[in-house]
Amino acid sequence: MNLDSPIENFSNIGPQYLKRLKKLNIRTIGDLFFHLPSRYENFGKPIKIKDAQIGNNITIEGEIQKIENITTFKKRMLLTQALIKDTTGVIRVVWFNQPYLIQNLKKGDKVSLAGKLNISDAGPFLSNPSYEKIIKNKTLWHTQGIVPVYPETKGVSSRWLRFILWNLLRKYYFKIQEFLPEEILVSQKLPPRNKALFSCHFPKTLQEAKVAKKRLVFEELFLLELKILIEKRNLKKEKAPKIKIKKSSMEKISKSIPFKLTQDQKTALKEIMMDLTKESPMSRLLEGEVGSGKTVIAAIASFLVIENGYQVAIMAPTEILAEQHFKEISKLFNNFDFNIGLLTSSLSIKKNKARQNKIKKQELINETQEGKINLLIGTHSLIQEKITFKNLALVIIDEQHRFGVKQRASLCQKSNNASKQITIPHFLSMTATPIPRSLALSFYGDLDISQIRQLPRGRKKITTKIIGPIYENETLNFIEKEIKSGRQAFIVCPIIEESKKLEVSALKSEYEKIKNKFKNFSVGMLHGKMKPKEKEKIMKDFKEGKIDILVSTPVIEVGIDVPNATVMVIKGAERFGLAQLYQLRGRVGRGKFEGYCFLMTDSPSKITWRRLKAIEKAKNSFELAEKDLKIRGPGDFLGERQWGLPDFLMASLDDISLLEEVKKEAQKILEKDPELKNYSELKENLKKFSQKIHLE
Ligand code: ADP
Ligand code: MG
Repeated sequence: MNLDSPIENFSNIGPQYLKRLKKLNIRTIGDLFFHLPSRYENFGKPIKIKDAQIGNNITIEGEIQKIENITTFKKRMLLTQALIKDTTGVIRVVWFNQPYLIQNLKKGDKVSLAGKLNISDAGPFLSNPSYEKIIKNKTLWHTQGIVPVYPETKGVSSRWLRFILWNLLRKYYFKIQEFLPEEILVSQKLPPRNKALFSCHFPKTLQEAKVAKKRLVFEELFLLELKILIEKRNLKKEKAPKIKIKKSSMEKISKSIPFKLTQDQKTALKEIMMDLTKESPMSRLLEGEVGSGKTVIAAIASFLVIENGYQVAIMAPTEILAEQHFKEISKLFNNFDFNIGLLTSSLSIKKNKARQNKIKKQELINETQEGKINLLIGTHSLIQEKITFKNLALVIIDEQHRFGVKQRASLCQKSNNASKQITIPHFLSMTATPIPRSLALSFYGDLDISQIRQLPRGRKKITTKIIGPIYENETLNFIEKEIKSGRQAFIVCPIIEESKKLEVSALKSEYEKIKNKFKNFSVGMLHGKMKPKEKEKIMKDFKEGKIDILVSTPVIEVGIDVPNATVMVIKGAERFGLAQLYQLRGRVGRGKFEGYCFLMTDSPSKITWRRLKAIEKAKNSFELAEKDLKIRGPGDFLGERQWGLPDFLMASLDDISLLEEVKKEAQKILEKDPELKNYSELKENLKKFSQKIHLE
């Protein structure tokens, strides 16, 4: 047996449970062992009945004198009532809605019970206690000491898990192999793997549980870190085109940019330029909220690469954004003799100094292959379309954080010349999502990161108000006032993660409501389920002022720029991440008019209001991202995708000091033994881990 043995091999687990466990994605004994408690009950040691105090949580041991099911007269509730006796007295016990208990617990049985001592008209009683029979040589798992509580799941109770884990963990304790290097266990004061697993399920103290959990988190993060560091190292061995940067080129491009770069932009650009001049490929993530000026940086980098005689590819997640990049960048390149292509599923355009015209898709692809197109802009599908470049040196992608060696190589034309060194292009990813430092460290450690934290020009402050549902009318009146003076408004409906269908139907009823209220104005609707063409038309109409109020789901996050929009109402604001709200709000007040944002919520919860208040105070979205991570966990940043990492790990990703320790240890090991030759168990586990997780 090892941890990979399928649960079918264990006779303790019946066919019913096999099925239920598989629903929980538990397929091997290792999966079962790593199904960790979400919390613990701390029941302590049993006391004598005479010492029981009303209002306390207590554990007692005694004999059942009487047990019966009764129905309460007033509330028609089903109760199981029992009398328990020890050497010092008798106590009444009541369970609610568990009539089957009397089949298991009988008069004369010795039991251990843990629960709260309450009082009613009929006197004191132990309310709904955890219970178990006292049988010789059987450990008490459910009612004494520290008792693990597992995530609630239908059909797999904590009681059953305690029973099965207690037995299997003890039976196979010595089959649980260590793989962390001894020196790390010593330097980090971590318990061995088998002890940690056992302690995590059955700790004697809460401190023991904490240390055990830390060890299990550590090992997962350690594998993640090793994987990332090894990939980074392998990438360094690859060759990329070395870009020479002439002073005259810098002067030329500076002249065609109509503004001065901000300090953050300058720093980011410098970091990118340093990477481009190296022989190994760049892998850099450029973070900065919408409007912070990433595109211009991408354009300058592209210019420098093209001046060296190489090609550049820029990819965006949607057609609209690809087009926006095309317009923005070709405007900056107006003075240069470059051929720029735009390729999306519905458009293929070629532009140079002389003219801009539609050409056949295949023609554009051919010209790219022949090296005639200097810059090709398109959607992410450029990767899938089997387009190859003659001498591609830089790939820039929006919102796709990783781009592996194979993906990069697939864009380059295969060289016939055997002696010619095959190079792979430099890679720059741009993202509007601020990634908290700890996540950047653990998940994006293979990428170098540049951040643009400040916005160009002093953008006007956006007046932000948190409002309950009763103020809705006042808000709508305010919108009316703004529209009458020529402005435009967004109404953003909540995300409904559970059901996209519900989300759309909620949006539609809001749209009808607004249309009724604003009969004299033009109201538009936008949601993710609409066809790309429809979406595009609505966005264009809004941008051109043909629509006064746009009712939409959060799809407007894609960077559309409408300087005339001044009001944004965000409904169900509590459902959004803080960084997301901040980004949404950034869509108003972009022009010369003051902006207003109303965060609407039905939630009476103080925490919600406090969270939303943070938006009013925040200096930038990076700050909010850190807060979000603490309050909501990493989901907002890592998205809905399955990374293949366990939940208990995801829940510990805000511990920056632990993450730093892990990184340090991983670096140390790789420096000492780059191929992990002397760590065969570690290597084996790393291999399995790599198969399990999906970073790309
Ligand atoms: P992002 O790509 O980060 O969303 P953009 O690059 O599209 O942001 O920039 C938003 C707007 O700000 C554009 O109109 C751009 O021309 C302008 N801009 C960028 N950098 C500066 C700057 N340093 N000073 C003034 N305007 C700038
Ligand atoms: Mg942009």
